[in-house]
Amino acid sequence: MSNRALLEKYGLEPRLPDHFDHTFTGTHGECERLAYYQFVLGRIPSYFDTIALTWGKTFHAIAEVWQKEPHTPETVVMIDSVIDTNLPEESDDRYGRVAGRMRQLFHDWVIYRKGDTIDIIRPEQSAVILCNSPCPYNDIEGGCQLEYGGRLDDIVRWQGQIGPLDLKTTVMNYTDPVTQFRPSHQMEGYVWITSHLIGEHCWGSIVEQLVCNKSTIKIGRYTMPYAKDLIREWAIQERIRQGRIHEQFQNHAWDEQHWLQNFGRCWSPYPCTYRDTCLSSRDMDFRYKRLRDHTYERRWDFQKITDGPKENV
Ligand code: SF4
Ligand SMILES: [Zn+2]
Repeated sequence: MSNRALLEKYGLEPRLPDHFDHTFTGTHGECERLAYYQFVLGRIPSYFDTIALTWGKTFHAIAEVWQKEPHTPETVVMIDSVIDTNLPEESDDRYGRVAGRMRQLFHDWVIYRKGDTIDIIRPEQSAVILCNSPCPYNDIEGGCQLEYGGRLDDIVRWQGQIGPLDLKTTVMNYTDPVTQFRPSHQMEGYVWITSHLIGEHCWGSIVEQLVCNKSTIKIGRYTMPYAKDLIREWAIQERIRQGRIHEQFQNHAWDEQHWLQNFGRCWSPYPCTYRDTCLSSRDMDFRYKRLRDHTYERRWDFQKITDGPKENV
């Protein structure tokens, strides 16, 4: 039986996302096969929605409410209800990610924001940029010749600089978060998008890191400058990668063998959730049956989903 017939037998259909963003092309950069399972076949492991993701999503949701609504007791009730809907009061999570801890994190974050204010120039939103005319990076006809999108947390002004803000929830208390966050395909993409939105190269990005575990809550804000030349080079690399993806899809949409595996990614920075399929039997019937049985279909759309897998556990 051909590979296509096997995929069809198990209801697995290759399709490209409508728009390319970091989640898709950044994953393709890490491991092409992983991107194929998750975004081309659109399959998510049944156990994918872990506490780590829920924790990050919940914080993003309450931060969004706090930034958009007036700061009244009713808004606090609304935030409480978001927390209660998403997180348990008690759990055996070893990092203590329960509703009460999220309330404490939110409280500390509000105080932090009051003590060191930022101006929100554009609130959280998704954006798709099609650059095909002169721009801050390519002063030539055709510009970057790139379409790329993403969901920015906010575009803010802080210490006189304008840039994208990225809220990162984590359980790890890294001593040097700046080193940990760079270089990053995601951040470079955010800077590229922001620069096209504001019409000039923005100097870099701002990360607000929220460390929260059983013993510690630590909030910090860090700037990460990105040179204009770096972002121009990023756009070239991104264009080449997208071209490769289109070529792979056109010629090998039904054949995973042409989407290269990267064994260096299987266990680090965290275990790949497709190991059971990818590193199992050579019998493709077995492999696709397992993929169907252990996953569900979810087509990634960053314009609809408020938060993606951004947690740095
Ligand atoms: S198991 Fe390894 S090679 Fe396979 S998809 Fe995951 S990261 Fe890639
Ligand atoms: Zn451009």
